[in-house]
Amino acid sequence: MCGIVAYLGSRTAYPILIKGLKRLEYRGYDSAGIALVGSAMNVVKCKGKVSDLEAASKGLDISGSIGMGHTRWATHGVPNDVNSHPHVSMNGKFVLVHNGIIENYAHLKKELLTRGYTFKSETDTEVLVNFIESIYLEKKVSAELSVRLALSRVIGAYGIVVYCSEEPDVLIAARKGSPLVIGVGENEYFMASDASPII
Ligand code: GLU
Repeated sequence: MCGIVAYLGSRTAYPILIKGLKRLEYRGYDSAGIALVGSAMNVVKCKGKVSDLEAASKGLDISGSIGMGHTRWATHGVPNDVNSHPHVSMNGKFVLVHNGIIENYAHLKKELLTRGYTFKSETDTEVLVNFIESIYLEKKVSAELSVRLALSRVIGAYGIVVYCSEEPDVLIAARKGSPLVIGVGENEYFMASDASPII
């Protein structure tokens, strides 16, 4: 099992994500990563512990108030920096963290390869983020509808958090067979694999 933490609000997301990921460490993991949205979108990820992620984040602009964090338990692809989450889509429009397994990822990947998509990692997750982006670009629908349409073709279990750079005030969450809880505050939202980061 791995972990997801995400935040959308007016506070600085970085400390909330790091603290949340530490609370989820008990679930077990091999890599950790975060995506932060401030003046630009920054992604930092690495094999190892959340403390390694903190070290790798030194010097990063951590002012963003939207972000997502992930601890990975590798199922598709070895534990390494590239296979760690978050994963960014080929054209850079979507970033995603994922708990679980996309069982039909090979079929979806083949479809995307014929449409010119390329992949950096060995993960099922990178297939999903590119599949979402391909629907968004081809059908010219909202990010939320793109996620819905993509998931209607997915077989497997997932908890996901998705961000689209063209819809900058929105985080999209979905789950099936994997846990994901949402905490609603005053003009702020938390998402996590269980309640411990939110508490
Ligand atoms: N299947 C995904 C991967 O291998 C997610 C694994 C997880 O739940 O951490 O990257």
